[in-house]
Amino acid sequence: MKVLVTVKRVIDYNVKVRVKSDNSDVDLNNVKMAMNPFCEIAVEEAVRLKEAGVASEIVVVSLGPQAAQEQIRTALALGADRGVLIQSDDNLESLTVAKLLTKVVEEEQPGLVILGKQAIDSDNNQTGQMLAALTGMPQGTFASEVKVADDKLQVTREVDGGLQTVELQMPAIVTTDLRLNEPRYASLPNIMKAKRKPLETKTPEALGVEVKAHTQLLKVAPPAERQAGIKVTSVDELVDKLKHEAKVI
Ligand code: AMP
Repeated sequence: MKVLVTVKRVIDYNVKVRVKSDNSDVDLNNVKMAMNPFCEIAVEEAVRLKEAGVASEIVVVSLGPQAAQEQIRTALALGADRGVLIQSDDNLESLTVAKLLTKVVEEEQPGLVILGKQAIDSDNNQTGQMLAALTGMPQGTFASEVKVADDKLQVTREVDGGLQTVELQMPAIVTTDLRLNEPRYASLPNIMKAKRKPLETKTPEALGVEVKAHTQLLKVAPPAERQAGIKVTSVDELVDKLKHEAKVI
């Protein structure tokens, strides 16, 4: 079975995000970029399926600037077999990404597509669901466990009230939640080997998808500074403050 995994290049989650001085967008100048953490979990799951003999090939796809090759190479170092970069310097909205991924799915015919549940830059949480709608494939979102049996997939989903298990007929789409697995680190020999793995570059035009903006970014502002907390010296003082200052009890 072929597994398609998507990896998005985003600001590293350890970086404190800055806003441009004219409030037009997030400032990406000299900022460390990395693979979206939920995509790391997606890659790890695919690699584990390959190690278990369930997956035969892992194709990793990223959509974005030329520099997104770095995140594809990371996925290749973690165990993916080949990469596809859909290169575009435009701001790609989830619907555009889903349309482009639909074309890749049509070409590659994977048995399983694994995406992150959300990208931590825009926090959209849309792409997997949109891809399912466009391809007609069943979806198991927010997965905390994935089991493959013949041509069926059992996905345990993290939902508000607890855990829900669904059975999907493959080919299917899974989006990863935090507890699905703990991603490994790439070893130096594997990083070297990854440089020789195939990486193909395509464009949205070549795939016949128009990159269209349906939304317009009006303004970006940093969150209001939080006021410093205080230390109370006794329970009585705490209760007094909660009663008379915070007025919550
Ligand atoms: P989102 O719907 O934007 O929160 O993204 C959900 C998931 O879709 C991400 O974790 C990625 O796996 C995938 N995805 C979204 N945008 C891209 C992109 N530009 N390149 C690769 N994968 C993407």
